[in-house]
Amino acid sequence: YKEIHLVNRPEGMPSDEDFKFVEQEVPALNDGEILLKTLYLSVDPYMRGRMQDAKSYIAPFQLNEAITSGVLAEVIASESPQFKQGDIVNGNLKWGEYNIAKADGLQKVDPSVAPITTRLGVLGLTGLTAYFGLLDIGKPQAGETVVVSGAAGAVGSIVGQIAKLKGAKAVGIAGSDEKIDYLINELGFDAAVNYKKDSFEADLKAALPDGVDVYFDNVGGDVSDAVMRLLNRNARIPLCGAISSYNAAGKDLGPRIQTSLIKTSSMMQGFTLGNYAAEFEKGAKDLGQWLQAGQLKYEETIVEGFENTPQAFLDLFRGTNLGKQLVKVADP
Ligand code: NDP
Repeated sequence: YKEIHLVNRPEGMPSDEDFKFVEQEVPALNDGEILLKTLYLSVDPYMRGRMQDAKSYIAPFQLNEAITSGVLAEVIASESPQFKQGDIVNGNLKWGEYNIAKADGLQKVDPSVAPITTRLGVLGLTGLTAYFGLLDIGKPQAGETVVVSGAAGAVGSIVGQIAKLKGAKAVGIAGSDEKIDYLINELGFDAAVNYKKDSFEADLKAALPDGVDVYFDNVGGDVSDAVMRLLNRNARIPLCGAISSYNAAGKDLGPRIQTSLIKTSSMMQGFTLGNYAAEFEKGAKDLGQWLQAGQLKYEETIVEGFENTPQAFLDLFRGTNLGKQLVKVADP
């Protein structure tokens, strides 16, 4: 079977040469080991940071070793009492067609609760990121205006909908007219603005007659500078991601925003999802209930075929995904 290894530390946008497909043999299982067949892989923007050899909240990927991410897999054989053949599991596993894993770190997925892919998106890492970043740091109040960038992506699309559930107005920023249409007409955002248009700043201002009370920032750069100019007093800014800078060669310096924060007494706070590990169960329960009640919608962009995994990852930086970007590797 094949695995995908990182063989270079990319500068700028990664390319095919940074990834290598490596053949592996399925070994005999030792006591406690489980053989897993990959069904779906998650590709996520934060993985770009792990390709650099830099100190961060999570260790870098090692060169000439398999890349890892969220994986949904089926148990093919098990030498562990905790899992049996046919179980569907979720874990942070290698980009491989198969994995050999131990039981700890694997969670059983019940396919009767929701489609299994939701565990890699709305009921997994990205949904929880939206939930905790918005509710714990953004604290949207009824009638306030919540702006979210990267709005049609996995995290952003959930942020806007939770804002609406809390009685706030949701205004999205995204990179195509199809995405704008989706945000307004499918997800019920109050307004949405395409940041790739020359008229972006004027369009944004027109979409925000009452200013900005919460800005959930997924992208950084010029988009965020434009939002910062429209902050209301005591605005809250959960700093979730800065995808516009992930492939930047040098330091990305834009217009200074400190004065906007000073003038409005606003609060900007970075976070990583791991901060909320003790509360994941509560977050997943709320998200699951909203989903079942039809109050939360989600989209997935599913790229078919293990061999297309690197491309699916790179597509995140081109913005071809609507909602959560996944790779389908095999049927159960
Ligand atoms: P998305 O599903 O949002 O996919 C990425 C999207 O980013 C693309 O679809 C694209 O949409 C947009 N994008 C790409 N390049 C740029 C650019 N230069 N400027 C502006 N937008 C761009 O990914 P996720 O929902 O998984 O992640 C969203 C953000 O949240 C990322 O920054 C990620 O790093 C961060 N994150 C943070 C976590 C945390 O714990 N703090 C956890 C999970 C994610 P478009 O067409 O609109 O350009």
